[in-house]
Amino acid sequence: MYELKQTKDLTYFAPPGWRGVLCAFTTRRGGVSKGPFATLNLGRSCGDDRAAVDQNWRLVLDSLGLEGLPRAAAWQVHGTKVARIEDLPGDYHLYRDTDALITDRKGIVLSTLYADCVPLVFYDPWNRAIGMAHAGWRGTRARIGPITLAAMGQAFGTKPSGCLVGIGPSIGPCCYSVGPEVAEEFAPLDVVHSREGKLFVDLSRANQRLLMREGVPPENIQASEICTSCRQDLFFSHRGSGGKTGRMASIMVLL
Ligand SMILES: [Zn+2]
Repeated sequence: MYELKQTKDLTYFAPPGWRGVLCAFTTRRGGVSKGPFATLNLGRSCGDDRAAVDQNWRLVLDSLGLEGLPRAAAWQVHGTKVARIEDLPGDYHLYRDTDALITDRKGIVLSTLYADCVPLVFYDPWNRAIGMAHAGWRGTRARIGPITLAAMGQAFGTKPSGCLVGIGPSIGPCCYSVGPEVAEEFAPLDVVHSREGKLFVDLSRANQRLLMREGVPPENIQASEICTSCRQDLFFSHRGSGGKTGRMASIMVLL
């Protein structure tokens, strides 16, 4: 069960029991952004004031004790490209057209952004490697989770049986209604249900099933099972807000 953690000014969720790695799923609490971005918006391209977003990032990195470390971020496009981070060209680098980041280097801050999509994080304690992937319905359909796991296997020797997986807060099957075309894509995973004439998909479970098929033991997967749309007091929700909203971040560092 994920617990809400508080460190200085930051409120965040983390997969319980992981050692040797720092992993945080931020919430919207804290920070200085206003209006639909209130208050801890970490997305630079959703319409918020740039200075406020920069200040929010400083607050997050300072609260987690990560200030001054190099940071790798992804320009997410709902695709399946995985970037392996070795040496950053500077203190901050944005990897274009990328939805997953992996590394075995200590002290590099990986981050991806969310407002309903499923945040996947991977930790291989045997080979000391980490990864993260942004899985909306397109990324999930395109198997970004298994693709990221395979990339870690190739780069670091990660085995599915030895890898820990965290699934952060995302839109739940209570709120994620989809059209029949999308529902059809997910029917083989048995994650679609209908209610009051509408179809709903459980994207978190879809990702769990895909990873288990690759050989990740169910007990290695920890899912937060908190819905971003139900809990807009805690999270930004693209669907729940009608589109104009901020972004939370998944943050990971190998210690
Ligand atoms: Zn919900």
